[in-house]
Amino acid sequence: MPAVCFHRASLVFWAGVLCSVARAAEEVVPTTVRTEPVAGNVFTLTGAGGNVGMCVGDDGILLIDSDYAARGKAPLRFVVNTHWHFDHVGGNEKLARAGALLIAHENVRTRMSTEQRLGHIERRVPPSPAGALPSLTFRDTLTLYLNGDEVRIVHVESAHTDGDSLVLFRNANVLHVGDLYFNGGYPFIDVRAGGSLDGMIRAIDEALALTNESTRIIPGHGRVSGVADFRAYREMLVTVRDRVRALVNEGQTREAVIAASPTRELDEKWGRGAFPPDAWVGIVYDGMTRK
Ligand SMILES: [Zn+2]
Repeated sequence: MPAVCFHRASLVFWAGVLCSVARAAEEVVPTTVRTEPVAGNVFTLTGAGGNVGMCVGDDGILLIDSDYAARGKAPLRFVVNTHWHFDHVGGNEKLARAGALLIAHENVRTRMSTEQRLGHIERRVPPSPAGALPSLTFRDTLTLYLNGDEVRIVHVESAHTDGDSLVLFRNANVLHVGDLYFNGGYPFIDVRAGGSLDGMIRAIDEALALTNESTRIIPGHGRVSGVADFRAYREMLVTVRDRVRALVNEGQTREAVIAASPTRELDEKWGRGAFPPDAWVGIVYDGMTRK
């Protein structure tokens, strides 16, 4: 098929999904869903929750995460959940009903099958209905071949949670890193669900090893970035970890560690996201002192 036709066909698919995704999102959240091209046939859908990655082509559609419950007759084939949090799996059931195969690390299915508590905000998360659970799970890696690309799904251990995956579109040179990366803000680490700051930094190193200087990085939250910004985010994590660890080793209390403002000069750049400096330092402290 000539390239022009391929692109036209893709755009028709893409527009169809986009409309149904946007309609469904409007039912759930009073916000519009923005779409942005990233590279090749990879796009992002962004709105209220986690960034959804989308690969579109003649083979059908693959979504990375499912904050939006798309409806209609979109030729959806695969949904990959980067982890179990509700803002990344919320559309699973509807997308599965629309024909998508739900794929995730085995710990995502385990956590979605049982009641969970989100540590920081103490939110009870009930078990998901059977139709929302990933029906294909894996332990280490899984590779999909679709739309002319090789899509590598790689599990990283104990990072944002215990079931995180990176998704690399090898040909498009795009890497979706889920909630390992909150671009422009301090992140959340779900220590109760097996996450850790050390693990997050290790996982970012694994992610960086999959990139080159022109790779586009899709974060779980915040704008798509290049590799340099992702490295700067890693440096921020290392700086905060080292400062908080030093205070913890001195035997400081949680309140004293927060009052010491170990994020100081970093707050200008990172302190205006979903997690303000105090909350972020508390997350780091709790992770380090957890028995
Ligand atoms: Zn998350």
